[in-house]
Amino acid sequence: MTDSQKPRWVIASNNKKKLAELQMLLGDKIELSTLADHGIESPEEDGLTFIENALIKARAAAEVTGLPSLADDSGIVVPALKGAPGLYSARYAYEGATDPENNQALIKALQDAGLEYAQAHYHCTIVFLRHANDPDPIIAQGHWQGRVYTKEQGEGGFGYDPMFYLAPDFTTTSAQIPATEKAAISHRGIAIREFQKKLAQFEADL
Ligand code: IMP
Repeated sequence: MTDSQKPRWVIASNNKKKLAELQMLLGDKIELSTLADHGIESPEEDGLTFIENALIKARAAAEVTGLPSLADDSGIVVPALKGAPGLYSARYAYEGATDPENNQALIKALQDAGLEYAQAHYHCTIVFLRHANDPDPIIAQGHWQGRVYTKEQGEGGFGYDPMFYLAPDFTTTSAQIPATEKAAISHRGIAIREFQKKLAQFEADL
């Protein structure tokens, strides 16, 4: 297939790491572009759930570009804190906060609740729209259960990984395992594999 015959999709994100990860997973069958390539800003994510926010992002990208679109939304959920940081995971301390600042905010929230640790899970939703009015989006989700502790450990990964301890022993964090191991068991890895399986069923639509 020549480049001009390849399906073109837009990724509803300006995150270069995500684009590279998705391009690797989808192979060279699809030509991917980002919002920045089309000179578009990210829309306001004002949904109340991960899935709503992923749909908002994907629909806005498809509307403006006229291309099929792919969006993902992820975060960490602590039921003992009423689901926080949840949708606000990337900006839990404040808008524009760094990962260590968000982690400190979560440690403080646990301490304020009198907890040394709490059950937690990571969530990832992936949404694919063939066009802005697609009534039947392809949706894949992944969850990763563990615990968050007030003590951080490890230098790898990103975000809340230094405080996310893995079941069943809760002695190692997701910042202490190789990236390949993380991809094999993480919320994002599960969602991406599920997405690929569903996409294969709909290959004829593309
Ligand atoms: P997004 O998927 O770029 O919207 O990320 C949302 C936020 O959730 C990130 O900024 C992190 O704070 C958190 N998050 C999502 N996935 C992970 C992960 O695999 N490790 C650590 N933090 C994560």
